[in-house]
Amino acid sequence: MIHYQLRCADDHGFEAWFRDSATYDEQVANGDVECPYCGSTRVSRAPMAPFIASGRAAKADAPAPSDEQPTDIHHMTDQRAQEVAQQILDAVGKIRQYAEDNLEDVGKDFAEEARKIHYGEAEERGIRGQASDEEARELEEEGVEFFRLPGANRRDS
Ligand SMILES: [Zn+2]
Repeated sequence: MIHYQLRCADDHGFEAWFRDSATYDEQVANGDVECPYCGSTRVSRAPMAPFIASGRAAKADAPAPSDEQPTDIHHMTDQRAQEVAQQILDAVGKIRQYAEDNLEDVGKDFAEEARKIHYGEAEERGIRGQASDEEARELEEEGVEFFRLPGANRRDS
C-alpha cells in the first residue's frame, strides 16, 4: 500500500491509500478517485514540498568531500591555518623581492609616478614606492592599477 497526498482541481487537499502507483494511475484515469469535499475526479498528487526540504537539509549535513582541500577556512585546523598564513607571507615576500629586483624605486613619488604612467605622461614601466593611505585611495578612485603589499610601508616609517 502507498499513501498519497492528493489535490483536486479546486485545490482541496486530501489523502488516500492505493495498492501501488499503477493502481493510483488507473483509478484516477477511470475517475474512481473523488475529492471528499467537492466530488471532483480531477485529482492529482500534491507537490511533496516537505520531502524536498528534508532532502536539502540532508545534503547540507553531508561531510566535506575531502579534508585535504578545505574550501572553508572554518574547517581548517589551527595548524593548517598557520601553514596557509605562512604560505601567504612567503608569497608576499616573493612579490616584494620581485619588486625590489625588477621595479624602479620611486620612493615617495609613487603616487605621482603611478598617475603619470596611468595617463601616459611617463614611460610605461613597473615602479615601486610608498604611498599614504590617502594617496592610495585617490589612485584607486582614478582607476590606477597598483598592488599594495602588507607591511610594505613599515620599513620607512
Ligand atoms: Zn475538491
